[in-house]
Amino acid sequence: MVARHDLATDPGLQEDLLQARRGTAFFARKLNELTDAELDGGTLLPDWTRRHVVAHVGYNARAIARLVEWAATGVETPMYPSPEARNHEINFGATLSPIALRNLFDHSAVHLSVEWRDLPDPNWANEVRTAQGRTVPASETVWMRTREVWVHAVDLDNGANFSDIPAPVLERLLKDITGAWKTRGTDTGLLIKVNDTAGNGTNLPFGDTSAAEPTIITGPLAAVVEWATGRGTTGVTATGQGLDGASRNEVPPPPKWI
Ligand code: ZN
Repeated sequence: MVARHDLATDPGLQEDLLQARRGTAFFARKLNELTDAELDGGTLLPDWTRRHVVAHVGYNARAIARLVEWAATGVETPMYPSPEARNHEINFGATLSPIALRNLFDHSAVHLSVEWRDLPDPNWANEVRTAQGRTVPASETVWMRTREVWVHAVDLDNGANFSDIPAPVLERLLKDITGAWKTRGTDTGLLIKVNDTAGNGTNLPFGDTSAAEPTIITGPLAAVVEWATGRGTTGVTATGQGLDGASRNEVPPPPKWI
């Protein structure tokens, strides 16, 4: 019998699934606000039109669904055969007709949601491998999808912005990004301070907390995450010794994230 509700019983996981589905609904709303002609327009991502973003988000759902199927069956099914295949797929998808592109997004999102719904409790701990080669429990697929749909909704560049993204998602994104910088050692001398979320732990500094004379990036959570993802510098300020005279008030570009 097919379940009509999620088989997962863990409250934290149920909350995460809700956030992923809310993000998917948000992306769908922004996509539906675009006319077919507007799909040809540019995005916040260099070289990508809205067509590329929609194709990528659709194929990303299929790729993540393959990981959930892997967790369900134990049969190894990677996200993509190779990075080249992934890029080729996106470039192909961008050439689809508007109706086919919209169907790709809708159908892939429903398919992923059903794969999540029908994954039994114990299988969520099964390990799968991401496109970057990380081994993660199947439960991580929910977060992988969550950040894709929320951030790429902003990338569509038709009115969504980072302040539309729920604070828990922004907080986790910032931890992810600054964690990736730390792993690569690219955050040297860079301290990040969030100034609008006192009391919940996010106002702790991120980045290089041991630097003697750091460059300090400060702003509200949404603005700091926008900057950290490389989407803009609105609302953040930079201070500190790490900046030379000419660029003292200029916000430096963030280290690479992905
Ligand atoms: Zn993406």
